[in-house]
Amino acid sequence: MPQRIRPRDLALFFVSFVSMAIIGVYHLNLSDNLSTSPLSHLIALLPVISMAYFFGVIAGLIGATIFSSLFLLEIPFVIKMYGFTFESIERVGISLLLYIAALVIGDLSNSVRQRSSLRLALKNRETLLSQTLNLEEITRIVINQVHQIIRVQQVCLVLQNPITKQWQIYTDKGRAALRARSEGDSPTLGSFILSQNESFILNNLDDPNSILVENLPSPNTVTSVMSRMMYQSNGSEMGRVVLINKITGYFYEQDIERLNEFIPAVEKAIEQAYRYTRTDYALERQISQLSTIQRTSQVLNTLLDAEKVIELTLSTALDITQAEAGVIRFHASDGSTIQKVIGEEINSERTNQILEEAISASSLERNNNLELSFPFIFKYSASQLCCYISHGRSLLGIIITESTRVEAFDRTSQWILSLLADHAATSLTNVRLFQEIYKEKQQTSLIIESVTDGLITINRNGVILTANPAAIQQVGLPESAVIGTNFCDTFGISNENCTHFIHELKKSWENHAPFILETIPLHPPNSKRRIVNLSVAPVFEENQAPSRAVVLLRDITEREELNRLQEEMISSISHEMRTPLTKIQSISELIATTLDKNEPLPDRKFLDTLSTESQRLSQFLDRILDVHQLETHQFKVELRPLPLTFVVQNLIEEWRIIAPNRRIEFLKPLQPVWVMADENALNSIISNLLDNAVKYSPDHSEICVELRVKDNRAAEIFVIDHGPGIEPDKQHLIFNRFYRATGGDSQEVYGHGIGLYVAKMLTESLGGNICVESTPGKGSCFRFSIPIMENSDEI
Ligand code: ADP
Repeated sequence: MPQRIRPRDLALFFVSFVSMAIIGVYHLNLSDNLSTSPLSHLIALLPVISMAYFFGVIAGLIGATIFSSLFLLEIPFVIKMYGFTFESIERVGISLLLYIAALVIGDLSNSVRQRSSLRLALKNRETLLSQTLNLEEITRIVINQVHQIIRVQQVCLVLQNPITKQWQIYTDKGRAALRARSEGDSPTLGSFILSQNESFILNNLDDPNSILVENLPSPNTVTSVMSRMMYQSNGSEMGRVVLINKITGYFYEQDIERLNEFIPAVEKAIEQAYRYTRTDYALERQISQLSTIQRTSQVLNTLLDAEKVIELTLSTALDITQAEAGVIRFHASDGSTIQKVIGEEINSERTNQILEEAISASSLERNNNLELSFPFIFKYSASQLCCYISHGRSLLGIIITESTRVEAFDRTSQWILSLLADHAATSLTNVRLFQEIYKEKQQTSLIIESVTDGLITINRNGVILTANPAAIQQVGLPESAVIGTNFCDTFGISNENCTHFIHELKKSWENHAPFILETIPLHPPNSKRRIVNLSVAPVFEENQAPSRAVVLLRDITEREELNRLQEEMISSISHEMRTPLTKIQSISELIATTLDKNEPLPDRKFLDTLSTESQRLSQFLDRILDVHQLETHQFKVELRPLPLTFVVQNLIEEWRIIAPNRRIEFLKPLQPVWVMADENALNSIISNLLDNAVKYSPDHSEICVELRVKDNRAAEIFVIDHGPGIEPDKQHLIFNRFYRATGGDSQEVYGHGIGLYVAKMLTESLGGNICVESTPGKGSCFRFSIPIMENSDEI
């Protein structure tokens, strides 16, 4: 960058040029023995005035002397020319007077210039200084201004750093620390200036090497020094403005006075900058502390080990509070205590006592929000900072940091430490929760592991995610070969069952409801055939659609095998008994027909008993076989259009003959009712109900059968009797297999507890339902419904 030409340089150039010109002209004149007019001397006044103006009185004096000596050289020529006359004396006198006048003019104009520049400087200082809070900039402005006010070679400011309390020297080259001693152990100029508590001026320094200016580009010798004290608004020392001349120059009292006008503004600006720096520093420290806490809390949150959390919390606490030693104590939920110490050796018994007391005093202290303080834990401590680690209302522990510095901690340290303690508390609570969850999870896994039924989880695509040992055993493959495979394939579920399973699973996810699939055969490729009940429940995670399902595979192979054997046995027994029973019946009938009517009565009675009992036994066998057929799905319903009114009417006619002691009424709609049903099933249902009505109602009582059509959709048949009725708490049980209501007259009535069970199964197989309404002592009303045929009118 091209440097700007300073006016002083221009002036120097001008002075040199004019002087050379004048000296050249005189030289020519003198060599020609020619004398110039005294007025021409006026031209020589120009460099003298310029020198005095720009470089001061001394420079002007030197200029005047040079030019005077030049003109004095002229005197011999003048005397030679005009003789030793008044004119020549006058000429000498005039030239001397002229130079004196030049000096006065130069000095005057110099003062005017300096005053105007001072005024300008004073005018600018407030604006300049008030514009910045940056200390470096302020010092630069001050140094510039001082240069303008006083002619001096070096200006510097010696100031104390408000935070580090270190003395620093500011020059136009920058800032450096002030050293008290130089290499040779001799005191530096800086230390000398600092030792003086008043403003001073030192001129004519005899031995320039005794005082070195430290921290300047080169340790030049110094000829004069001026130091002006600076104070803060509270009167305490702020620093000094130091002016140094290295080659020539003197300082005068008025220089200090000149500075006096300017310095108060400087003091104010520096104080403001200090205040700003202090706030800035405090903020910077807080930001760094907060970012340390943030970083630490991130790490803390990832730690799942209480001991590590405690360790990190303590080291961070020391870091952010700038303490040298500290102790942390944490009470774990299981009653154990974790304690960590950083710092010198401590008396652990005493420390325990202090910490225990601190923790037991906690509720009071915390509620009252008092500043905590306990006996020092570390030997050389001079200040202490304490903070409880608490989460909600529960106290988890305490942190104490200590420092050998007096008043090392302030409110900010307290606040920052409590922030850290809060983070630590959250992390410790998380650790606690994690451990509890982990423990619970372990227990749950233990339960799942020990469940004897197969338990697996599958995802939406039917892929196995987890499987317990029982499930693994059911499949007969290692766990790694089971996880990630398709449920139906791995467990060998038939395509038909699998489609049904997937369909039900979809429904269960939509309805948020579990479902059960009974007696599902499994043919796992590597294991034996089994029969299982599948209990499937969708798994819900908070605010999320279910993505998994738990499947419990209850192995019912043995039970099913037993059932099968039982059924087989029943069926074979029934069949085995049926043949001899039929034979007994037919023989007893044959005997009855061949027996003489006049045969004595007891023999006939025996024969009747034989016939009735064998009939009952045969009826029982029929029922047992019905049940067996129904349960083994051997009974196939064949639906076809049936004129219900007609079927019921026929049955009633039959029952009127079978039970002549009952009045059986039939109420029916005018229109015939048609249903889609299996005739045998329908007969069996109505017969069972009529059989019961007859069995359980007294002689000569009325039994009413009513046929109704409900909503044009279902045919309802009511069988109403005036028997003993059924207790309300037994009404829902009477449709169970082999259930017979105990007590009352019913026990005196012969029965097997199968009739209503068969009626219920048959009604359901026809797509209807059956129920009872009964009032004990008054009678019962059985109702069953079956769907009526669509377009029955057309038939
Ligand atoms: P059971 O062969 O014993 O009649 P059911 O299955 O037909 O077997 O009936 C079960 C039980 O219901 C009977 O034992 C009886 O206690 C009760 N019950 C059935 N019908 C009636 C009725 N009409 N009045 C009173 N109780 C009845």
